[in-house]
Amino acid sequence: MASTLLSFFEASEQVQLFIHALAEAATPPQKPTESVSLASAAGRVLAEAVRADRDQPPFARSTRDGFACRSAEASTNQLLSLAGHLRAGETPRGNLQSGEVWEIMTGAPVPEGADAVFMVEHSEHSSNFIRLAAPRTLQAGENIVPRGAEAHAGDLLLSPGARLGPAQIAIAAQCGYDQLSVATRPRVAILSTGDELVPVEGRPGPSQIRNSNSPMLAALVTAGGGEPIVLPVVSDQDELLDFVIAKVVSTAVSADMLLITGGISAGRFDLVEGALSRAGARLFFGGVAIQPGKPVSFGQLVRADGQPLPFFALPGNPISSAVTFHLFAAPLMAALGDDSTPLPRFALARLAGEWRGKPGLTRFLPAWCDFGPASEVRLIPWQGSGDIAAFARANCFVVIPPEAGAVEEGGLVQILLT
Ligand code: AMP
Ligand code: MG
Repeated sequence: MASTLLSFFEASEQVQLFIHALAEAATPPQKPTESVSLASAAGRVLAEAVRADRDQPPFARSTRDGFACRSAEASTNQLLSLAGHLRAGETPRGNLQSGEVWEIMTGAPVPEGADAVFMVEHSEHSSNFIRLAAPRTLQAGENIVPRGAEAHAGDLLLSPGARLGPAQIAIAAQCGYDQLSVATRPRVAILSTGDELVPVEGRPGPSQIRNSNSPMLAALVTAGGGEPIVLPVVSDQDELLDFVIAKVVSTAVSADMLLITGGISAGRFDLVEGALSRAGARLFFGGVAIQPGKPVSFGQLVRADGQPLPFFALPGNPISSAVTFHLFAAPLMAALGDDSTPLPRFALARLAGEWRGKPGLTRFLPAWCDFGPASEVRLIPWQGSGDIAAFARANCFVVIPPEAGAVEEGGLVQILLT
């Protein structure tokens, strides 16, 4: 199944092609949905349209504590008679007449007859008379949001595919949605392979290590809106790999995507490729010109029910697994969950310090970015892609393009956000 190395962009394109093919399929898989309460909708992907149930704001709203008035009158700085009071939640009784102001609070409806609000801080009082302090003037419409200026009843405010964050929850609440229809989380099977691995709760022998990839990938899957299904570790034996892969494609697991880690390099006990091949896998790429993560493979198996089961075989080294998850698996998982958020996410930052190295591969170097008005990113010294301690000190990866042999101090670099 070995094929030539693709560039990072070519490999990303393969993932995008797969996503498009899924969407364009003659009968695209029916995406199951579920109903959740607004309180537990954060992080989910909306599966219905959210529409305004009434005009927003539903009345002309004062944005200040102050005095509703006629702007032309207030702008002459004449004393105007205080003829009414409006608190938030109160409905105006009657209209504002010429020569009047009404005291009004932020969020209260502006009475008919008023076309502006001047701020209490800009007012002068004389018993029951108020004026706008000279030399201030007031424009019509100032400090008022007209009814329907934000949305009209029936307007589409959120489309299916929106990831529900705080702002989306707020607008759904404003429109009276106490339940929302959301996409079911994609189920992602996670299979770590390696003779040397013991589970977290196990006691490693002198040459064994704990399986950290499964919990790490489960956390990545959860953070990306998926549901992890962590399978027991499989040792480097053909029969066991065949058995577990057969299990994953059967209806027993009903996974939407499979992540395998380890066993895909050129070592004598790297048996994953062979097992996938025996299971009838179709390979879209096997190796990408990136570091870490070069051996990463992407392909598809067919589930017992005939549905495609996309898989990524990720290199065993933990940082390689994490980087390749972010670059390739996360975008596909998002698409499987109907999430329209574009992934992976990149940003620009200035490099603190310089970098020198060999060109040829797109590199992803663990780094810490101080996100501020001028984001500055610092590389974290590391011992290579197995150095989880360095990884745990990072909050992003600096991306070095394949043609670069150096980046100077203060140079602008792309960072991969994690
Ligand atoms: P492999 O891709 O199987 O050749 O593994 C590459 C390196 O990653 C080796 O040093 C493995 O011990 C390590 N490794 C593989 N799988 C895991 C895992 N699940 N958790 C932590 N380290 C792993
Ligand atoms: Mg291995």
